[in-house]
Amino acid sequence: MSDCGCDKAKANVYELLRGELCAEESAPIREHIANCDGCRDERNACASLTEVVKRACDEENIANCPPEELRDAILKGLRERV
Ligand SMILES: [Zn+2]
Repeated sequence: MSDCGCDKAKANVYELLRGELCAEESAPIREHIANCDGCRDERNACASLTEVVKRACDEENIANCPPEELRDAILKGLRERV
């Protein structure tokens, strides 16, 4: 199997969603996701989880919810979905 960029795309999907990547970094990942069903599913799952967690944190107090916790919650959620 050739290197299609899945590892890189999946490793960076969270940062991409949080807007933590510069244009130069995100462009090839966005392009890969647009052309790869597996990575698109991953991105969509991560996006909806990010929304759910973000909304929950907004209701509480965003200041009480550090990024590391958000990340853990999202990764845990992703793992449980599989
Ligand atoms: Zn892929």
